[in-house]
Amino acid sequence: MTQLNFATAHNLDRLPPYLFARIDAQRDALREKGIDVISLGIGDPDMPTPEHIVNAMAEALRKPANYRYPDYAGSPAFREAAARWMLTRFGVEVDPTTETLALIGSKEGIAHIHTAFVNPGDYVLAPSIGYPVYAGGATLMHAHSYCMPMRAEKNWLADFSHIPAEVLAKARILFLGYPNNPTGAIATPEYFDEAIAFCREHGILLVHDNAYSEIAFDGYVPPSILERPGAKDVALEFFSLSKSYNMTGWRIGFAVGNASAIRALGTVKNNLDSGQFTAIQEAAIAALDGPQDCVAELCQLYQHRRDLVVEALRAIGLGCEMPKATIYVWAQVPSGLTSEEFASRLLEEAQVIVTPGSGYGPDGEGYIRLSLTLPDDKLLEAVQRIKSIA
Ligand SMILES: *Cc1c(COP(=O)(O)O)cnc(C)c1O
Repeated sequence: MTQLNFATAHNLDRLPPYLFARIDAQRDALREKGIDVISLGIGDPDMPTPEHIVNAMAEALRKPANYRYPDYAGSPAFREAAARWMLTRFGVEVDPTTETLALIGSKEGIAHIHTAFVNPGDYVLAPSIGYPVYAGGATLMHAHSYCMPMRAEKNWLADFSHIPAEVLAKARILFLGYPNNPTGAIATPEYFDEAIAFCREHGILLVHDNAYSEIAFDGYVPPSILERPGAKDVALEFFSLSKSYNMTGWRIGFAVGNASAIRALGTVKNNLDSGQFTAIQEAAIAALDGPQDCVAELCQLYQHRRDLVVEALRAIGLGCEMPKATIYVWAQVPSGLTSEEFASRLLEEAQVIVTPGSGYGPDGEGYIRLSLTLPDDKLLEAVQRIKSIA
């Protein structure tokens, strides 16, 4: 018998190879050959989940009530904890029942929001340099994504002021995410206000991906877009416990904001998944309600690593800014090389993996992203290796 090789759906063929899956494969291939590769490629926290959260999970695992199907939208207790956290952290009031929704990681919600609002042939407005799921989700819905330019001179704030009328007419979602992965840029309140006014004028759902809201330095405190007046009229915001509490593997996050968008995303999820394990939601409640010193310590750790890497990169002549948030450093590639060429050289000659900026979209050309998710000695060794070939 021969297995049939089925033709995949056209939209699947249109997806670019998922950047990080490709980088993982490169890393594994080299490691298999016994080559000592240092990966600054993927932003996956290296520190353990704080103990009080693990303990809450251990307790939750012993409760047979948690073994049954979870509530689709998240347990009432989790949604209340999310609402409480929004209030204490940002001073933002959200109704737990109508304005919050538990997610199986925020990536899940970001991917499914397209299913809720995008028809074939429609557009989503995606930052030119951004998390691949914004555009990928549109492709999977037989829709298009329009790249909003991002430039260093404009502090990497995606420019939505020159979108052609025919695109605007079919635009359903505008995606933003600040503090920004990969550039490390932060948004001003005025920028959020302009985005809110723009989306209101054109009837577009504003989706703000706030995965790095808790990872900030030098006293900077990232806001929620929902702090801005009128934001809830047009905006949905995604939060993730992944980076703030070293919980990437746990898969837990939530959406808050516009009630009609929450309802529509909930409808999609009712039909596609059955929610996140209630025990994980209980652990997440411990994270959101518990002491936040673990978050402050994590920020100190990343700030220290950031200083180390930025200083070292500058010392070897690679231009980079000092990011005020996120777990990344966004550095310029030496002139004469493309992002991909420089990343390949680093891999082949220095055995260091970085992400080429162009992998995030056209305006990322000329940059690489380095993750701060390795201990100091590894980070310094990586920079030394880069120095040896730069
Ligand atoms: C890490 C990350 C996410 C996804 O977080 P999960 O909650 O783990 O799915 C979303 N957006 C951006 C920009 C990220 O970097």
